[in-house]
Amino acid sequence: MRLILMGPPGAGKGTQAKFVADHFGIPAISTGDIFRANVSQGTPLGVEAKRYMDAGEYVPDKVTNLMVRNRIDEPDAQPGFLLDGYPRTLAQVEELDGMIAFTGHRLDAAVVLTVDDDEIVQRLLQRAQVEGRADDTEEVIRRRQELYAQETEPLIDVYRKHGILLEVDGMGDVEVVTQRIFDALDVIPES
Ligand code: AMP
Repeated sequence: MRLILMGPPGAGKGTQAKFVADHFGIPAISTGDIFRANVSQGTPLGVEAKRYMDAGEYVPDKVTNLMVRNRIDEPDAQPGFLLDGYPRTLAQVEELDGMIAFTGHRLDAAVVLTVDDDEIVQRLLQRAQVEGRADDTEEVIRRRQELYAQETEPLIDVYRKHGILLEVDGMGDVEVVTQRIFDALDVIPES
């Protein structure tokens, strides 16, 4: 099972990614989490990523693509994986297509969580308090939403054309949304 999970910042991707990945016994790979781990360890990748993340900008494709390539090459990702927060640009879509095709597999589904904008801002401001994320100030949240609309939303059409798009209502209780994702995934054949 090879899945991607998309949605605007604050749509609850991280939480849902873990539930869905556990269900299928595959790793949930979050590019945001990998970047954050590198930032807190002070690695060269972390130092480079931090200035983009703090400003709400995307880390350059070249850096992000290489990081994902290395991660999905690891043994635990051979049976499949769920990508949370990647791809986010058209260039990343192409790169991912190439990576997966090289292994003789295909992407099974692109799940998009749709949410109400006002609820998103509330969730993000709440998370900023709980997790103390530097990229959750109001100004940065707005920039991240803008960037999502410009760079990432166009990917929805791409995956719709590929016939693998599953749009899921991301509003409501976590368990309810998880069940909606499972219901949506039920319709796709496992590869
Ligand atoms: P997230 O936790 O997924 O919201 O990611 C946090 C931050 O990490 C983003 O705002 C970006 O700065 C960076 N990031 C995560 N994934 C990507 C990606 N696929 N492409 C570029 N930057 C990314």
